Amino acid sequence: MATRPGPLTEWPWQWMGNFKYLVLAPAVLHTAHRVATKGWGDLDPAYATMLPALLLRMIHNQIWISLSRYQTARRKNLIVDRSIDFEQVDRERSWDDQIIFNGLEFYLAYATIPNVRLLPIWRTDGFIITALLHMGPVEFLYYWFHRALHHHFLYSRYHSHHHASIVTEPITSVIHPFAEHVVYFMLFSIATLTPIFMGCGSVLGVVLYIAYIDFMNNMGHCNVELVPKWIFQVFPPLKYLMYTPSFHSLHHTQFRTNYSLFMPFYDYIYNTMDKSSDELYETSLKVKEETPDFVHLTHMTTLQSTYHLRIGIASIASKPSDNPVWYAWMIWPIAWLSMVLAWVYGSSAFVIERLQMKKFKMQTWAIPRYNFQYGLSWERESINSLIEKAILDADESGAKVLSLGLLNQARQIDNQICLALQICRFCKYLLGKNKNALEHLIKLHAKQLNRSGELFIQKYPKLRVRLVDGSGLATAVVLKSIPLSTKQVLLSGSTSKVACATAIALCEKGIQVIMSQKKDYDILKSRLPESRAVYLKLSNSNIPQVWLGDNIDDEEQKKAPKGTTFIPTSQFPIKKIRKDCTYLSTPAMKIPETMQNVHACENWLPRRVMSAWRIAGILHALEGWEMHECGDDMMDIEKTWSAAIKYGFVPLMKG
Ligand SMILES: [Zn+2]
Ligand SMILES: [Zn+2]
Repeated sequence: MATRPGPLTEWPWQWMGNFKYLVLAPAVLHTAHRVATKGWGDLDPAYATMLPALLLRMIHNQIWISLSRYQTARRKNLIVDRSIDFEQVDRERSWDDQIIFNGLEFYLAYATIPNVRLLPIWRTDGFIITALLHMGPVEFLYYWFHRALHHHFLYSRYHSHHHASIVTEPITSVIHPFAEHVVYFMLFSIATLTPIFMGCGSVLGVVLYIAYIDFMNNMGHCNVELVPKWIFQVFPPLKYLMYTPSFHSLHHTQFRTNYSLFMPFYDYIYNTMDKSSDELYETSLKVKEETPDFVHLTHMTTLQSTYHLRIGIASIASKPSDNPVWYAWMIWPIAWLSMVLAWVYGSSAFVIERLQMKKFKMQTWAIPRYNFQYGLSWERESINSLIEKAILDADESGAKVLSLGLLNQARQIDNQICLALQICRFCKYLLGKNKNALEHLIKLHAKQLNRSGELFIQKYPKLRVRLVDGSGLATAVVLKSIPLSTKQVLLSGSTSKVACATAIALCEKGIQVIMSQKKDYDILKSRLPESRAVYLKLSNSNIPQVWLGDNIDDEEQKKAPKGTTFIPTSQFPIKKIRKDCTYLSTPAMKIPETMQNVHACENWLPRRVMSAWRIAGILHALEGWEMHECGDDMMDIEKTWSAAIKYGFVPLMKG
């Protein structure tokens, strides 16, 4: 919002929320009716191009968003190195409004200007006129209109909305109040409508001109310098005809210079050129290598997690992933496309996020594989080598700690499935009626993909980067979220490292841990000192109101008494099927205010909340702890909890 919003600030369809696309419904229905009654042959080029052109604009803009976010995460050729927050993402989420507006303009022009129906696909003379009109009146009028917008009267009512973003993203380019868009539409119409009225316009001429505007707008706001120097060396006058991302970024940091639309010559003529433009261009072109202090290694979860990534759809990434099903389906082609890309190009982890806490630099890398692939035994080798490569890359980059997120650390063999199939999923060891079946599962396979990273430490004993599975802090968070008066808890689901550590800690405090599965009970009992084993109980009838565990299935949940609190012990939330029970978040904490550039949510967690496993890695690096936290090794629970509090991480409230 502008500081003092003036008339016509809001889009006319703002009240419609997510249903705003219905504004275009009459146009779509009209097209469908026309095709149904008269056939495709009746459509003239202009009419046939309208809707596809809008769709292509959406795709074009989204490509810019993703590329820019990817490059800024990698910090390559970054221009302004400051953080973006949720406020900016919220302000810029309606970037598609101007595309809807554009659609309405198309239809209006078609309905009212007879020449539009006669437009051929292409005419060179008309396009040259469009280009000349853009260079002349459009750029000139824009320049002076833009200067007028910076007069405090208009600035406070309108243009300050665009300038609220100091660090720009491609979509910042179209974030203006409605009234400003109306003026821009009139300006651009000079270049599009004149050839049409002169009888030399063409459909492609209009489409290409709009694509040019989109391209230049997105480029100018992408915060990454990508115009190579040789272009200006080959054709020096280009300097006056084409701005660069660093040129327009100066308009956002300095406000009173570089007013031009896309062609800087009016800034040269009227002497409003920022003196540091050339210098900033040169420095921005230099590739900067950043050494992260800490790397968190995550992976894709579901197919739809693609648009929830920071480099996916900005507004979705800024909200926990609980989007309505209809919305997820609407954009499913992106999900499938990204899975294909992940398969084809996914030969290494990629940077998805870059955070900062004072001088401490953090990055998040993602393994281009999905949850379901972690469950496939034939993918094990390839996933382990992707993780291995990421660890070696982090080591080489000088990172102090790498934390293994989600399934990268420890994939549990589902003992139940193994026993049911009577075969071990990993080595095909025939369990059959072998009485040692359980021991086989426990001892030979340690139940994990890479045993919380232990595999890599054995393979690379000289590794400088510390590997952290975060189990210590996750256990601490689980323990702290158990109500103080609790005397009994039920431990359900598999016996993961965190679940075992939690159970052991509870038994040591004298809290009874009840288990209903004999084999899980046996595994845990073997790990407990005899004096504490009395607090571990196998029972199917004694059901307490505090449940711990992961992946508690529907049938089991139905057995919980009314008012039960479910506390997850894994990084994946427990499916909520009971309305009369409380489900706590997966172990996580609020991050300190000093952590910056946070504008995407971690999977299903709320804004500015981070999983305990990831925080554990941050603390490990901040404190310079030397040990690896993987395999059977775990950080001291109290020590890591105190460190979290010391650095300003805040426990979540229940719910
Ligand atoms: Zn401005
Ligand atoms: Zn701008």
